[in-house]
Amino acid sequence: MQEYVTAAVSLRKYSQGDLDGRYILFTERFGRMAGKAKSSRKITSKLAPHLEPGTLLKVRFVEAHGTQIIDALKERNADLSLRDLDHLAMVLPEGQPEPEIWRMVIEGRFSWRAALAVLGWDPEDAVCGACGVRQGAFFYIPRQDFFCAICVRKLPSITRQNAVLSLHVPLQPERHMDEQGKSQSSPRSPIEGRGTEAGS
Ligand SMILES: [Zn+2]
Repeated sequence: MQEYVTAAVSLRKYSQGDLDGRYILFTERFGRMAGKAKSSRKITSKLAPHLEPGTLLKVRFVEAHGTQIIDALKERNADLSLRDLDHLAMVLPEGQPEPEIWRMVIEGRFSWRAALAVLGWDPEDAVCGACGVRQGAFFYIPRQDFFCAICVRKLPSITRQNAVLSLHVPLQPERHMDEQGKSQSSPRSPIEGRGTEAGS
């Protein structure tokens, strides 16, 4: 029986039967996948602590009556909130490696704006899918569409909590962003500028 080994981030866990656990993993080699860990809910389970959501781990699994996780070893915590983990479990395509998003996660620079762009939903020019006018600063996962701040408030609050990604950085017209970028990267004062020149 062939074994597979890959680095992974545990995204979600479910209980299955009395003792088994089912896990949604974002793996480096295979993308999003689900696997069962036998007896992981037993108090004596050695696997369970390594498979807690938010853990970056090495996982070993086999394909036998579905995907069976046979070994897991925690490396460290991934720097993602439980909500982000949950939302990743919802948006990542099944069984498709996503190397760019993987690197964002392990290098601690994950952002929804970048991740959505990689997945083909570029937030940059997004308009609201409901009113079609305003900027889509929220992504409604089940509809795979952007919503504006006004239309998103019309969704039930439970839906907003569970299925809406907020793109925290406000969307701005491109020209405005360019101007901001320039003013941030230029020296703050002539004195600072001279100082750098003299030092080099
Ligand atoms: Zn709208």
